[in-house]
Amino acid sequence: MNQRILLSTPHMSGNEKKYIDEAFESNWIAPLGPNVDSFEKEIATYNGVKGASVTSSGTAAIHLALALLGVCKDDAVFVSSFTFVASANPVLYLGAEPVFIDSEEDTWNMSPEALEVALAEAKSSNRMPKAIVVVNLYGQSAKMKELTDIAQAYNVPIVEDAAESLGSTYKNKKSGTFGTIGIYSFNGNKIITTSGGGALVSDDDELLVRAKFLATQAKDDAPYYQHSQVGYNYRMSNVVAGIGRAQLEVLDERVNKRREVFSIYQQELGGIQGVQFMPEMNETKSNRWLTTLTLDWEKYNILPQEFISKMDAVGIETRLLWKPLHLQPLFADSKFYKDPHSQIPVSEKLFDAGLCLPSGTNMAEFDQLRVITEMKKILNSSRKHVHVFSWNKKIGSNSKLKHKIN
Ligand SMILES: *Cc1c(COP(=O)(O)O)cnc(C)c1O
Repeated sequence: MNQRILLSTPHMSGNEKKYIDEAFESNWIAPLGPNVDSFEKEIATYNGVKGASVTSSGTAAIHLALALLGVCKDDAVFVSSFTFVASANPVLYLGAEPVFIDSEEDTWNMSPEALEVALAEAKSSNRMPKAIVVVNLYGQSAKMKELTDIAQAYNVPIVEDAAESLGSTYKNKKSGTFGTIGIYSFNGNKIITTSGGGALVSDDDELLVRAKFLATQAKDDAPYYQHSQVGYNYRMSNVVAGIGRAQLEVLDERVNKRREVFSIYQQELGGIQGVQFMPEMNETKSNRWLTTLTLDWEKYNILPQEFISKMDAVGIETRLLWKPLHLQPLFADSKFYKDPHSQIPVSEKLFDAGLCLPSGTNMAEFDQLRVITEMKKILNSSRKHVHVFSWNKKIGSNSKLKHKIN
C-alpha cells in the first residue's frame, strides 16, 4: 500500500540538528538565547525590515500585534473573511469585535472596494476600527498598494497576516512588510517550520521593543517582579529557534520547489474542463504554499465533498478552501462587507468551488503524478455529457466546420 499523500508536511534541511546541538552544548535550552537573537536578525534581514520578534506561534504574534496597536474591549477590528480562524481569534481574546471584509477575484484576498465601503461607513457611524488584519492566502499577496492607500487615508494601521506567504513578494518587496506590523507562522504545515512558532516584524523600533516586553509577561523595570499591565508568555525557545535558523537557510529553495509543484499541476490539469488555478497577480510572486484551484462543479456529477472522499479512499489528502469566517457559527453575529462588484460574495464563491492539492516540497514526483492520475480518473468518470455543449465546443475548435454551419 502506498503512503498517504498529504497537503503539506515538515521538510527538514539536515542542518537543524547543528543549531539544536549548539543550544544543548551551551545548555541554552530556554528561555531565549543566541539562536533566538540570530533567528530574529536573520528573519529581519531576509525580509528587509528593521527587526523581528519570534513567538510561540503565528496566532500569538497576531495577538501581540493587536495588543500593541491598542485594541481593547469592544473595539472594532477589520479582518479578511476568507482565511483560517487564527487571523480573527486574537480579536476575540482582546474582547474586541471583528468585522469581516470580502475577497476580490484577482488575488482571492481582501477587496479594496469592500474595505473602502466598510471604512466610509465606520467613519460616518463614528466606529472606526483600531486595526485591519489583511491576509495573504496560499502564498498570494493581497493588493497591498490599494489596501495601504485606503487604510492610510483613514489613518488605520494594518497588520499583515503573512502566515502563508513567507518568501512571496509584491512589487519586489517581501510579503509581510507592508503593514505597520507583519506576522509569519512556522507551524508544521507552513512553507518552513520550527515545529511550531511565529514571528512579528516591523520597521518601528519602539513597537518591537514593546512586543518583546509584552511577550515576556510585561515585567516593569524594577528590582523585583512588578507589573503594571497584562503580559503574555509568548516568546520562542532557543531550541526551537535553532530549527528555524536552518529552515530559513533553505526558504528560497522551498519557494522554488513549491512553484515547480504548482507548474506541474498547471501543465497536467490546466486543460481539464472547468479547472481554474488560483491567479498570480502582476508584479507579485507567490510562494505557492498550496496549489489551489476552483472547479466548475456544474459540469460534473460529483460534489466537492464526494471528490475529496474519493481521493481520500486512494490515500490522497485534498481539502476545500478556507470556509469564510463570516459563515462560521463562531462569528454569526459579526458584520460582513461583500465585494461591491459581485452579487454573491467572492469568498463564498471560492469556498463553494475551490480545492487545495498536496503541495509539500518533500512530495516525490511519483506521488504528485499519482495525485494527477487519480484526479483525472475521478473527474473523467463524473463528467456530465451535455450533448449540445460538446457539439458547440467541437464547432468552436474547428473553423472550417463552423464556417459551413454558419
Ligand atoms: C497558520 C496560520 C495562522 C496561525 O499560525 P500558527 O502558527 O498556527 O498559530 C494565522 N493565519 C493564517 C492565515 C494561517 O494560515
